[in-house]
Amino acid sequence: MSELIRLKNLTVTYERHPAVHHISGGFAEGSLTAIAGPNGAGKSTLLKAIVGELPLAEGSIDRGALARSDFGYLPQAADINRRFPISVADTVMLGAWKNAGAFGQFSRKDGERAREALDIVGLSGFERRHIGALSAGQFQRVLFARLLLQDARVILLDEPFTAIDQRTTADLLKLVLRWNREGRTVIAVLHDFEQVRAHFPETLLIARELVGWGKTQDVMSPANLIKARAMAERWDDDAGDCLPEDEPAPHDLTKREPAE
Ligand code: ADP
Ligand code: MG
Repeated sequence: MSELIRLKNLTVTYERHPAVHHISGGFAEGSLTAIAGPNGAGKSTLLKAIVGELPLAEGSIDRGALARSDFGYLPQAADINRRFPISVADTVMLGAWKNAGAFGQFSRKDGERAREALDIVGLSGFERRHIGALSAGQFQRVLFARLLLQDARVILLDEPFTAIDQRTTADLLKLVLRWNREGRTVIAVLHDFEQVRAHFPETLLIARELVGWGKTQDVMSPANLIKARAMAERWDDDAGDCLPEDEPAPHDLTKREPAE
């Protein structure tokens, strides 16, 4: 498999505090990679940097001939504003923006594709519903329909199944696997290690710095998970008393997450 995206000594900072530190490695074309790591490990930051949404403090990202429109990106739910007054159909149609004409008009074909996409995610008949009136799972289905319409070569998903019901998770995971079978390169931040081990051949494990990147069975070893957790504990010490007393310990990486 040829390499599609290369990270070269990548460092991304917020007000000079590095969130992603000296990461190097490559994503092969058509690969299916999970990004795992403790809370605050820089997973979301890394995805945003790959998509080109954040400036780099150091290093570079080689995207070859890929254009911005080749990337389909689903941000973490917390970053999405659902109060925006827009219908399900219009939200999905936003996935077709790269086909829209100079005046932003969509073709009849895009409308048909939007209906097809909603059918694939199991939301036929929801076209006119306001997105604010959907459950978390239904809204995630809408966003997957939008990705379907976008037809991107590279798909990046940030915790797509967090706080999503089991049935929706199963349905949307099938779509992710189908995208990969179609030859698309898929990169997903995930917290369910069982799901990662069962379905994602490659894993990138980070704790601000790279802990491991390669075959999932090698990267997700107990030793690496303990190492990632120990690195995260060091930041918490650095942070002093920032966490309230009753806050749960930030993500016990040695424990298995319960399946959703
Ligand atoms: P993860 O997705 O692995 O939980 P993030 O990439 O969201 O981690 O965050 C990595 C670190 O960067 C955290 O310490 C977080 O607090 C910090 N961070 C994230 N976004 C911002 C921001 N917009 N401004 C300042 N710091 C941020
Ligand atoms: Mg995140």
